[in-house]
Amino acid sequence: MATSILTSACEEKNIKITANFALGSVDAEKKVIASYDGTEVNYDLLASIPPNFGSEVMIESGIADPMGYIPVDKETLQPEGRDNVWVLGDGTNVPTSKAGAVAHFQADILHENIIAYINGDAQHARSDGHAL
Ligand SMILES: Cc1cc2nc3c(=O)[nH]c(=O)nc-3n(C[C@H](O)[C@H](O)[C@H](O)COP(=O)(O)OP(=O)(O)OC[C@H]3O[C@@H](n4cnc5c(N)ncnc54)[C@H](O)[C@@H]3O)c2cc1C
Repeated sequence: MATSILTSACEEKNIKITANFALGSVDAEKKVIASYDGTEVNYDLLASIPPNFGSEVMIESGIADPMGYIPVDKETLQPEGRDNVWVLGDGTNVPTSKAGAVAHFQADILHENIIAYINGDAQHARSDGHAL
């Protein structure tokens, strides 16, 4: 149902979808992009978004997953087994938006819990991943 609505909307607006396309090269003069498997697509205006990764230094440190994101408890934002480490923002593997707004609200949780840690109290503040 959703696919057929999408298909008819694209046909109506003359939009062509090429799925599973891994961008391999751009010929800006001819205005053609090519995938690694050789599929070519013409374009008028190219807006290309690269895949997101975390930092290489985090991968090399052993604290991050292969994508460079640091696995944390999604509520306390602490990596497993590290009770004096907290992570916020795009560097976490929390299943929420990679957004400044999320990092902003996570900072409130970290503030509460770092103070609690210093005072020897339990980690009581909990993040819910919200952005608004
Ligand atoms: C084009 C664009 C538009 C966006 N628009 C919005 C929006 O409208 N609303 C919204 O909520 N979010 C938006 N975002 C997302 C938002 O910018 C990020 O989610 C947010 O900045 C993440 O904050 P952060 O502190 O985790 O990481 P960052 O803001 O990326 O901060 C990381 C910092 O670490 C520094 N750093 C990196 N490596 C090292 C190192 N080895 N040593 C020391 N320092 C290092 C970097 O220089 C950087 O200052 C947008 C992002 C982009 C790219």
